[in-house]
Amino acid sequence: MRFLQLFALISLLTLLSAFTPQDRNRLGPMGQPQASPTPTPTPLPPPTVKMDAYRTAAARIIGAALTSDRAYSRLAHLTDHIGNRLSGSSNLEHAIEWALSEMKRDGLDNVRGEKVMVPHWVRGEEGLEMLTPVSRKLTMLGLGNSIGTPAEGITGEAVVVRSFSELEQLGERVRGKIVVYNAPFVDYGTTVLYRLQGASRAARYGAVAALVRSITPVSLQTPHTGAMQYDEAQPKIPVAAITIEAAELLQRMYDRGDRPTVRLKMEAKFLPDAESANVIAELKGTEKPDEVVLISGHYDSWDVGQGAHDDGGSCIVVWEAATLLKELGLRPRRTIRVVLWTNEENGLRGGNGYRDAHRAELAKHVFAIESDSGIYKPEGFGLAATAPPQVRANLQEIAKLLSGIGSDRIAASGGGADIGPMMREGVIGASLDVEGSHYFDIHHTPADTLDKISPQDLKLCVATIAVMAYTVADLPGSLTGD
Ligand SMILES: [Zn+2]
Repeated sequence: MRFLQLFALISLLTLLSAFTPQDRNRLGPMGQPQASPTPTPTPLPPPTVKMDAYRTAAARIIGAALTSDRAYSRLAHLTDHIGNRLSGSSNLEHAIEWALSEMKRDGLDNVRGEKVMVPHWVRGEEGLEMLTPVSRKLTMLGLGNSIGTPAEGITGEAVVVRSFSELEQLGERVRGKIVVYNAPFVDYGTTVLYRLQGASRAARYGAVAALVRSITPVSLQTPHTGAMQYDEAQPKIPVAAITIEAAELLQRMYDRGDRPTVRLKMEAKFLPDAESANVIAELKGTEKPDEVVLISGHYDSWDVGQGAHDDGGSCIVVWEAATLLKELGLRPRRTIRVVLWTNEENGLRGGNGYRDAHRAELAKHVFAIESDSGIYKPEGFGLAATAPPQVRANLQEIAKLLSGIGSDRIAASGGGADIGPMMREGVIGASLDVEGSHYFDIHHTPADTLDKISPQDLKLCVATIAVMAYTVADLPGSLTGD
């Protein structure tokens, strides 16, 4: 992330400036655009694809997906027996080995791990205590990529601001103090800037540490971790997330003039880069095996909870989609390639590494889908706003095969953090869009666990991805209508 931060920040700011406030409401965990609730307004050309031939296959796929418990069983193994999977952890490597061996047992084609070196950040022991005006432990989680504190911790007066503009008004008055950002959740894309930039913007004025109200609309004393990024031009200071409850407590004390003091202790540090891999498996195409429809989720997670919604569930979904098609004897003309990305959360090395390793065949990637918004009731796909109108018209026609399960919407924008690098090279990309009202309740928290996953929603996600991937991969003509 150190090397990527400037690029990531520029990408994020570009995205934020390019999208309307409505779109910003739907930015994904790494700032990628997700669904827009409004359909595209411009009139589209008539579709060039004919769907009559696909109705039977779609019905078989949906039927099989809705009557199989295998995906849930596998997600249960991943979450309960392997657990969370931060880049560099032995859990992630166990998860990769397990997927590779199971995918081979499923009889999928060309199953392999493609090596990627990943950053290895470790949290270590950590804690936050209020010392005055009362002694109290505060729930926290260090932010990913943060440096640690000295062993004795950093003790300082807490200065609480609700926004960057309040910080800027205080300016040098925060020197030697601990800045607490108590910014209420507006939407993910807007509020996540406090997590990403809060440390460096406070360090600019001499702050010695920063605390960030968790990026979430609701809290039951739940701290939310996630990546932060240092501005190399500023001193590096440690930064942690606190709960909404702690942020509001500090705000009340600060407003009353209580001058609260806190002590932050974090052992966080980077170890040398570790070896990891993107997990890849295929259903090899019958007529155009060199053309690829890519379906994906990210296999790494934060080091708290089980990484069930983010993003283990999606990995199981795309894997199950391929296995199900194989079992049904539905082998499409083009290759369906399943990719379980490594290192989405704190580096994007998997997505960047894939683009670099597969640069020569990117032109043969006819469509790339990423699922990374949790496993909830699927609503359809968020298609990149830049997709050609003919592709949009064709995907809308294909999506009608999903109208029976309500996941037939093609939204005006979408994409994904891991497929972002190949999309910037011209690959047409889309997100799986799901009902999103509760994702950020548990996102990047100890509460992202299997019990939050509805088995029925998981099945519906499998059906949605499998029908879309199969149909696009099997089209006799091209998706672009050429
Ligand atoms: Zn994610």
